[in-house]
Amino acid sequence: MKNSKKIKWFLGTLLMIAFLIPSPTVVFAGAAPGIIDGADEAGVRGWAWNSLDPSACEEVKVTITSQTTGTVVGELTSSASKYRKDLADQGTGTGNYGFEISVPWSSYGDGSYLVEAYAGGQKLSGSRVYGVGSFASASGIRSLGIFKTTAYCPCRSCSGRWGGRTSTGTVATAGHTISVDPRVIPYGSRLMIGGVIYTAEDCGGGVKGNHIDIFFNTHGETRAYGTRDMEVFLVP
Ligand SMILES: [Zn+2]
Repeated sequence: MKNSKKIKWFLGTLLMIAFLIPSPTVVFAGAAPGIIDGADEAGVRGWAWNSLDPSACEEVKVTITSQTTGTVVGELTSSASKYRKDLADQGTGTGNYGFEISVPWSSYGDGSYLVEAYAGGQKLSGSRVYGVGSFASASGIRSLGIFKTTAYCPCRSCSGRWGGRTSTGTVATAGHTISVDPRVIPYGSRLMIGGVIYTAEDCGGGVKGNHIDIFFNTHGETRAYGTRDMEVFLVP
């Protein structure tokens, strides 16, 4: 008797969940519009489609942002209509969704550039960084996605009795030290955030999951920084 009541309650809950889920599912159905497969000296490659209208041809916009100045130096568009056997084979619509856009890297000058792409107003996955000239070694950097970032300093309200010492025994240094959740970002990892390469060498009680706390020298700087959602890149 008790059990059957429980089962009824359970089924009722399932039914409720089933009713609650459909609307977000419809929204998310179009939320994986494609991916950037590669960015190199030849340009940017990938694919994009509208899963709600597989016969449509998406317009892809690639943006190239200087990691040094934060400014967009290039916006390039192309239609995603090249046949890709791999997509057709895996059952992604007709497979006619590939794009290849050549990028005039040398006109942008030496630097590291964030490569992002959009289709149907949504961002494609696989953003990456491409280095030109003396920054060529920056290539191979991989996006870990968007993290919540905050700031801290050696003051008592930020660091308590730790001051400028990190949990790994180093002296915290501005422009270098970040505090991470070591279960998400192992100590010693080098991450690029906003064009600066930091090293994960500290942790904090409030730093959990996809959250990174960036070390600054003064509390004024931490206040100015506030909270920002930033794309985080793993530097090999
Ligand atoms: Zn502080």
